[in-house]
Amino acid sequence: MKFGLVSDIHGNLPALEEVLDEFERRHIGTIICCGDIIGYGPWPNECAMLVRDRKMIAVRGNHDTLIVGDSEIEEFSSNARKAGLWTRDQLLPETREFLASLPLPTQFENFAITHASFRDPLWEYIFDRRVAYHNFHVLETEIGFFGHSHIPTIFQWNGGDVLGGQIVDDFELLCEPSERYLINPGSVGQPRDGDWRASCMIVAAQNGAWQVQIRRLEYSVEETREEM
Ligand code: ZN
Repeated sequence: MKFGLVSDIHGNLPALEEVLDEFERRHIGTIICCGDIIGYGPWPNECAMLVRDRKMIAVRGNHDTLIVGDSEIEEFSSNARKAGLWTRDQLLPETREFLASLPLPTQFENFAITHASFRDPLWEYIFDRRVAYHNFHVLETEIGFFGHSHIPTIFQWNGGDVLGGQIVDDFELLCEPSERYLINPGSVGQPRDGDWRASCMIVAAQNGAWQVQIRRLEYSVEETREEM
């Protein structure tokens, strides 16, 4: 099993296209998306339709939920609120319908996906080891994939202290079978770790061993800036 992992696309089409090209070069067909497909970026419909048409396995983020109307706009910071209201006006009926159809946390045989955290699927940030620790107790699988913080992160735990944290640059990890992991691929469309490049991950499982690779990809950021 091998799949691409993305999160927090946020309507940034050039960044998403670059990530999809990378997955194609690596012959990856299955893609998992940890939510926030729209919000902030200028191409909400295009990004949502790409996620739909590529048949990504996706969960709904807080921005996606806002558009569907289930989330309170007051919860957002003022910039996110402004962008959110603009985005809401742009959405085509099929985008709305697609976003509304997305589930919250989803569990598979040996991994689970959520947007924010496993305790609170829409709002809690897993920035530090303390919050990761609490989430390991809620997670029922070996590995949990999440987004929301826009920072590539790997935490690991085997019952003692939680280890790990933010990941810088391209990075490869061979997971220990005795450990459990909480993994964030970073943000495709709006990284918040000071590195402007789109962030994504390639995950492979062979004979029960997980291999995780983070990729940072350059794209035409000027195009996005101009359109914003
Ligand atoms: Zn986000």
